[in-house]
Amino acid sequence: MPFAMYDTASREVKTIGAGKKHITIYCCGPTVYRDAHVGNLRTFLLSDLIQRTIKLTGVSVALVQNITDVGHMAEDASDKILNQAKRENRDPFELARQYEAKFHKDLNLLNIEPAQLYPRASETIELMQTMISQLIENKNAYIGSDSTVYFSAQSFQSYGAISGNKLDSLQPGHRYEFIDEGGKRFHADWALWKNAGSRTEMIWDSPWGPGFPGWHIECSAMSLHYLDNHIDLHVGGIDLRFPHHENERAQSNSITNTESVSHWVHGEHLLFEGRKMSKSSENVLLLSDIIEKGIDPLALRLVFLENRYRSQMDLTWDSLYSANTTLKRWRKKLQEWGTSQISKSDDEFVSALMNDLDTPRAIQRLRLIEKDPSITNEMKRAIFVFSDQIFALDLIQEEIVREMPLHIEKLLKEREMARAEKNWSRSDVLRDELEKEGLLVRDTGNGQEWDFI
Ligand code: AMP
Ligand code: ZN
Repeated sequence: MPFAMYDTASREVKTIGAGKKHITIYCCGPTVYRDAHVGNLRTFLLSDLIQRTIKLTGVSVALVQNITDVGHMAEDASDKILNQAKRENRDPFELARQYEAKFHKDLNLLNIEPAQLYPRASETIELMQTMISQLIENKNAYIGSDSTVYFSAQSFQSYGAISGNKLDSLQPGHRYEFIDEGGKRFHADWALWKNAGSRTEMIWDSPWGPGFPGWHIECSAMSLHYLDNHIDLHVGGIDLRFPHHENERAQSNSITNTESVSHWVHGEHLLFEGRKMSKSSENVLLLSDIIEKGIDPLALRLVFLENRYRSQMDLTWDSLYSANTTLKRWRKKLQEWGTSQISKSDDEFVSALMNDLDTPRAIQRLRLIEKDPSITNEMKRAIFVFSDQIFALDLIQEEIVREMPLHIEKLLKEREMARAEKNWSRSDVLRDELEKEGLLVRDTGNGQEWDFI
């Protein structure tokens, strides 16, 4: 059965890399000026699930994910990394490296398999400059009156094919691009190389004067260079469909003179407790916030799997606690079901994945298998072991059984009593003491629960 996914450009579910034995994937990576929030992680998990599912079909994968450490502009046309570096009074590169390391740590906690390569924008400037020179030579780009190099949107006939935003429907003055550059000839053109102007940090020499690259050219340059001029599957969050991917397609196709990306896959956005995640509304959830509550980071992976990637999803604390409980139950069941490492494929599980990555249906299948009295424990375990190749929930991780030291047990009892007496200040003091002892306590409807840190 072939692996098919919805392609945003053709608006249909298509087989991925039909007949190919090797598939190239490019996933737009993080802008490393802050911690990735759980919404970003949902999108990064999508490329992991795709990669694992392709490998399951016996096809090899090359996955490249860029690190944007320069060129991604904020709404006020300033560079996101430079802004944050100023706020923290730090060197912008040092800041970017710190958040990049944090990004890898988060991926690891979510069992997201690493990409083959994570090229950094700041280290691939030459690639971008070569591409820009070529685009100028081909008359797809020009040097504007402000010495910034722009891509000429009208030079690319099929602009708008991914998002449906054709040039004649884009009104002048409409803020579809954050920066309203002064030196461009047509309102829908965008900057490939920005003139440094008064900017002194994170700038490079170029044939067009000192400056820095635009965000869209980064992805064209890195994807074509590292994946040999053709990308079988391109992944990103739905917000990148326009203008980022539309512009990337125009740039890349103008260089290769062919359709450089075969399949555009977009993950829908994540909301948290019913609202968009944004700093201004103080509604940003990080993986560390989840871990702090004593929830296994893989419970987040499970909640994501319970929702289809193409549907907008609302993450709640309730769903995280409930997934955490399921995770613990499954790990315990797998221990009860034996010790064999044998893995057994399940047709319905596989067919759910092959059908546009229907992970909720695959989870449903596992829940049925768990409860089915006609399936032997050995078989149940083997199917769950098989599923973990894709789901990566560490189901056969042996539970670490730790003895509770007596003095900690005493503190827990004392806290339980303090709570019964509604002595909240004492109960808070005891919680801090327990945390120092390596125990994370949280209060639930059924009293206090705890996990070893
Ligand atoms: P950024 O670091 O802002 O460049 O975003 C990295 C990735 O996360 C991109 O693919 C975005 O489309 C994606 N993304 C941003 N916000 C969300 C969200 N709330 N839910 C899912 N994906 C998101
Ligand atoms: Zn990109």
